[in-house]
Amino acid sequence: MELTKEAITEVGEMKRQHYAMIINGERVESSSGNTFDTLNPAKGETLATVAKANEEDAEKAVQAARNAFDNGKWRKYPVGKRARVMNKIADIMRSRFKELVEMEVLNSGKSVGAATVQINQSIEDFEFYAGAIVGHRGEVNNMPHGFFNYTHKEPLGVCAQIIPWNYPMMMAAWKIAPAIAAGCSVIIKPASLTPITAIILNEICHEAGVPEGVVNTVPGSGAVVGDYLVQHEDVNKVAFTGSTPTGKDIMEKASQTLKRLTLELGGKSPNIVFEDADMEAAVAGSLFGIFFNTGQSCEARSRMFVHESIYDEFMEKFIEKTEKLVSGDPMDKGTHLGSIISKDQLEIIDGYVQSAVQDGAKIATGGKQIYPEGHEEGHWYAPTVITDVTPDMKAVQEEIFGPVVVVEKFTDEKEVIKRANDTKYGLGSAIWTTNQGRATRVAHQIQAGIVMVNSPFSAFPGTPFGGYKQSGFGRELTVETLDLYMEDKSVLSYYGAKPLNPFNV
Ligand code: NAP
Ligand code: MG
Repeated sequence: MELTKEAITEVGEMKRQHYAMIINGERVESSSGNTFDTLNPAKGETLATVAKANEEDAEKAVQAARNAFDNGKWRKYPVGKRARVMNKIADIMRSRFKELVEMEVLNSGKSVGAATVQINQSIEDFEFYAGAIVGHRGEVNNMPHGFFNYTHKEPLGVCAQIIPWNYPMMMAAWKIAPAIAAGCSVIIKPASLTPITAIILNEICHEAGVPEGVVNTVPGSGAVVGDYLVQHEDVNKVAFTGSTPTGKDIMEKASQTLKRLTLELGGKSPNIVFEDADMEAAVAGSLFGIFFNTGQSCEARSRMFVHESIYDEFMEKFIEKTEKLVSGDPMDKGTHLGSIISKDQLEIIDGYVQSAVQDGAKIATGGKQIYPEGHEEGHWYAPTVITDVTPDMKAVQEEIFGPVVVVEKFTDEKEVIKRANDTKYGLGSAIWTTNQGRATRVAHQIQAGIVMVNSPFSAFPGTPFGGYKQSGFGRELTVETLDLYMEDKSVLSYYGAKPLNPFNV
């Protein structure tokens, strides 16, 4: 079938009945003609149809990205010019902020408050990397006399970037911004559940002046399109955010071509409340730590440890506040929790809660599906607190990825560090204490990429984000991320007047 093509000069209406994929600067339909429905999970309604990429389309995207990298001008631009285009991307996003937030809410079911923060951060990611790349240089190294060495930073090449549904636009921004700042070309594979805002972001890139083929978006099945990209010889790097099992599969397959890899995977992050914590701050911060983004977050603080001496007081306040949280119309500013992303995810969450009950745990609040007014057909789950758990329970060890926290008591610092580290994951962690010495001591012993001290927030553009252990490797959101999209070439030259003759012949 002949591809229908339309070059992108501007984004146009964001709310559409159909979204094409983006290959080589054009809106393109699938070569098979196939589409899939994307939903508004808060209402369980179809939102739009989306072109469904297959291997043939993925191949076209790789060729477009390869050609843009090998023969195009983007990576040859003076770095200031790349930065200017990236700032223009941010400017267009700012000028269409409300529309972007609305599309994110519609396609993900998240609350408008959460979407607002995330779209804002997506914009700042482009601004951050526009600035960071300008000062990102190689080094001149001290050498024995007669030798001169410098390192030349070169973009890696074509990068496949596979992203999840929990932060559809922010994950696209985290991936695209450092990659194109470095001069790479990218192919975004959005999550099948939430393809819309990644497509729109790609369109904005073109409107801002990113040349054709530098950013491409192929919505379609991860098992088909994602897998094809991961195994492709012409793809130099895979950057993936999502579940640990899929991450392992990608790592195994990417090893066949020794691709560069960044993996940002699951978590089961501890939230430790010491007896000397500021009670009010700890309750509010722990609440946000688990229930923001409806708990559908890789760094959700989903394992809570509370010191035995304050346990009763803390839990009374925590449960009282949990029950005050509002689940409902995601576009309402008073809403705290949006919907669950899908019926399947809802069943996964409830399955974990039921398993905890069967294992002997108690549900302090929540533990059931809910049906907010006007959203009865959507996928909703009550914010849930589970107590009386033991470390071996499935709900304590595995990532639930929903608004569910498990709570344990502890007795002393040494013991809680050991228990906090008793997980295969190591992404986030939070410590609530007014004792600075303890905060530092514990922070340095937690096996996690991120430690929040008296803070409900895990990251901003400029702070490293990534995991220890089976939460993956590589850091995003920071200056060093640029190096994960570059190679350091060592250029070693000899300038001595006397010719060197190491073989002495
Ligand atoms: P997933 O399988 O890890 O999917 C994430 C992304 O990878 C999606 O774009 C997906 O495409 C793609 N993908 C899936 N299989 C692939 C493969 N074999 N090769 C290449 N790409 C592939 O996550 P999920 O299935 O949506 O969710 C399952 C669980 O993962 C959740 O219950 C949650 O526990 C966890 N999760 C974690 C994060 C995180 O940030 N840590 C994010 C999302 C989910 P499709 O959408 O087309 O499948
Ligand atoms: Mg999956």
